[in-house]
This record gives sequence, structure tokens and C-alpha cells, in this order.
Amino acid sequence: MTKFAQVQAPGLNRRQIGDYTVTAVVDGIIDVPFELLTGIKPAEAEEMILAAGRPRSSAMTVSAYIIEGRGRTILIDGGAGGINGWGGLQVALAAANIDPRQIDHVLLTHAHPDHVGGLVGASPSAVQFPNAELVLHEEEYKFWSDDGNLSRAPEAAQPFFHLARSVFAAYGNRLRTVTTGDVAPGIDLVHLPGHTPGHSGYRISSGAESLLIWGDIVHYPNIQVQRPAVTIAFDVDSAAASTTRRAVLAMAAAENPLIAGMHLNFPGFARVRASGDSYAIFDEPWCPILI
Ligand SMILES: [Zn+2]
Repeated sequence: MTKFAQVQAPGLNRRQIGDYTVTAVVDGIIDVPFELLTGIKPAEAEEMILAAGRPRSSAMTVSAYIIEGRGRTILIDGGAGGINGWGGLQVALAAANIDPRQIDHVLLTHAHPDHVGGLVGASPSAVQFPNAELVLHEEEYKFWSDDGNLSRAPEAAQPFFHLARSVFAAYGNRLRTVTTGDVAPGIDLVHLPGHTPGHSGYRISSGAESLLIWGDIVHYPNIQVQRPAVTIAFDVDSAAASTTRRAVLAMAAAENPLIAGMHLNFPGFARVRASGDSYAIFDEPWCPILI
């Protein structure tokens, strides 16, 4: 008897930004209970998700992005890898016909496990992208490397430090720390601190189009765009995270760049518009031609 698939197919969606082709690549999902949000009751959070036409679920999408062009193949974040038994970045990359050895740069938004877990294998020294330089904000590297921060962290967050340090060590002398500015031709790092101290976005400007890959500015796009004051337990500094989110949303509504983010709804690109005294997010539907 024919067996029917019980899981989703690999998630891929391509978008042209001038000379660059940007591919959203789904790594997997994490179930993040609404109880981890501050500033909203779980029942209200569920109502907002349903009002946006989303399924009744607190499953959060985890994506990474590939940027190809100008002789480079760049990965933005590495997904979670095999931690917690989920993570499909390698499968999605294979479906996109991208060999991990082709990746010449990995640009990190920050070093949480759902962004760096996929950069190493089951053994943290097994580098998944052997030809890549790992680039991240200086503050991010310092934060996770600091023993004082490790000892002050709650027990539940201590594994985050150990994984980040393992990944930094695995990439060894191919790790580069940067501050705001150019990291590749036409690609600027934008420091967006709060969620973590070195949390950063990447702005890609090429031709008439501009794309901001904003990392974890939102974990629940259908909640936190409309209500930027809602924060999540993983924020290192929740007040700063909320302030940064408000500023980025204001910029996105005024300048109208295309937005990408690691926890946006798939297919992974959206626009932000002003709505009353707040903001609204509009997912860009999958398009059969490369635009
Ligand atoms: Zn995340």
C-alpha cells in the first residue's frame, strides 16, 4: 500500500534582490509556549494568531537564508541542527542544490542555539561548513565568552553558553568579529541589540531593492509587530529588545524594505506597514517566478 508523507516537504523560497538571489530555507519548528511571552496573556496570544488566519499552534518557524551572487555563497544563521531531535537545514540545503562546502561566509544574527546549532554536527567540533568564515558582532562574541555572564546565567540558559563557545571554538581562526558596517559587497551589518547584546540584522542593498534580514526582532510576527512591547523569555534585555523592535518597525514602515527574519511565517519574506498607532505585517506570498 502506498505510504503518504506525514511531514512537510523541505521549505525553500527564492527572491531576487538586485545581483543577489536570496533563498529562505526552513530548518524546522520549535514549540514555544505562549506562557514564555511577557505583556500578553496566553489566551490573547492565541486569539491574535487565529485572527491572523494562522493555525492554532504555538509552533515557531526557524529559518536560515542563503545569499548567492557576486561570486559568493553566504549563509545567514545556521538553524538549530540536530538539537532536540529536530532541524532540517541540511535536507533543505540539499533540496536547494547547495553543497555545504560552497558556503564561504556564515553571517550570524546572534548565537542562540536555534541559530548556531546547525553550524556544527552531533559532535560540536564537527564543522558543517568547512570553507566558511564565521562572522558575528563583537558584542555577541564577548557576551557568550564571558565567564561572569555564564556564572550569573540561570541554569536553564547555561547550555546556551556552552553551545555558543563550542561553535566559536570549532570555527577557530576562521571566526571574525565585526561592528556596524560592511561585511560583504552590498551587505551591511546593522546592530539591533536587546534580544542579545550583539544581536544584528543584515541589510542587502542591490539595484532598486533593499532587504533587511532582521534576525529575531520578532518571534511571533502576528503578535509582536502589532504589540512591540510583548517580550519573550529568551531576551537578554527585554526592555532594550522592545525599544529596538519599535525602532526597526518604525523604520520598516517608513522606508518599506522587504523584511526577512528567522521566525517569520514561511515563505519567509514580508513588509511592515503602519496601522493605527502601531504596525501590521504582510507576508509576501510565494511567487512562481523569481522576482
Ligand atoms: Zn531565534
